Amino acid sequence: MIDSTIALHPSFTPVYGPVSSWRYGRSLGIDPIGVVSTCSFNCVYCQLGEIEQKTSDRMIYVPCAEILTSLENFAPWSVDVITLSGSGEPTLAANLGEILTGIKTLTARPTLVLTNGTTLNDPQVRSDLAIADKVSIKLDGVSSDQLRRVNRPVPGIDFDHIIAGLLEFRQHYQGEIGIQTMLLSPWDESTRREYISLITAVAPREIQLNTPTRPKPVQRQLDGRENHTSSANRPYQVRALRCVVPEILHHFAQEIEQKTGIMVRTAPIPATV
Ligand code: SF4
Repeated sequence: MIDSTIALHPSFTPVYGPVSSWRYGRSLGIDPIGVVSTCSFNCVYCQLGEIEQKTSDRMIYVPCAEILTSLENFAPWSVDVITLSGSGEPTLAANLGEILTGIKTLTARPTLVLTNGTTLNDPQVRSDLAIADKVSIKLDGVSSDQLRRVNRPVPGIDFDHIIAGLLEFRQHYQGEIGIQTMLLSPWDESTRREYISLITAVAPREIQLNTPTRPKPVQRQLDGRENHTSSANRPYQVRALRCVVPEILHHFAQEIEQKTGIMVRTAPIPATV
C-alpha cells in the first residue's frame, strides 16, 4: 500500500519544466503520481529507472489542489501544451478528471495525457481522458510476448486486454490520438504487417516512432521526468540500452505512411547512436 502523503516530500514538485518535446513542442509537465515512481508497466527503457511501485490500482497520489497551487506559479503558461506524465502512469491517478478540469479552467491551454494504455478498459478512465485535448498511447509491439519482454506489465494485464481498451477508447474519444512506439530492435516482416493492421484499425492522428537514445538510470531519478540528454554528466548510475539505427526507424516510418496514410514522426537521433 502506498502512502499518498509521500507526495509532500520536500524535493517533489508536481509541476516541472517547461521541457522541449519533439512530439508536442514546448510542454509544461504535470506529475500526478509523486515521489514514488508508480506504473502498471516496468518498461526496459524507462527513464525513471526501475519502477518502484508496480501496480494497476488507481488512487489519489497528489491532491489536485497541490497541483493547481504549483501551476499558478507558472502563469501565464506560455507553452504549447500542458502534459500529464511525470513519475509513472498518469491514469493511475484517481483524480485525473479533476486535475484535467482544474488545469483547463486555470490555464485555458491544451492538455495532453501520455498513457501506457493499460487502464483504457476502465470506463472511468475513458471518461476522465475525454477531458484531455490529446492522448498519446504507448504501443511497443503486437503480441503478448513483446509486451512481456519490453513493457514487463504487472500480473493481470495482457495484450488483448490492452488492445480491446484502446479500440473502445478510440470509438468515442473526440480529441487527438497519438500512438507512441519504441523500437529496441528491427521488427521482422510479419510483426511490421501486424502492427500496420492494428494501426489501421486504431486510425490515430499520428504515430510517434522512437528508439532509446538515452541510457536508463539504474535507480529511480526524479529528473527522468524531464528531457536530459545522452551527453549529460549525471551523478547516478546509468546503463546503455539496445536501440535501432536511424535508417531502420525511417524505413519503417515510410512503410507505415505508405500503407496507412497516417503521419509518422520519428525522434531526432544523435549521430553516435
Ligand atoms: S509506461 Fe512509461 S512510466 Fe511506465 S514503465 Fe513504461 S516508460 Fe516508465
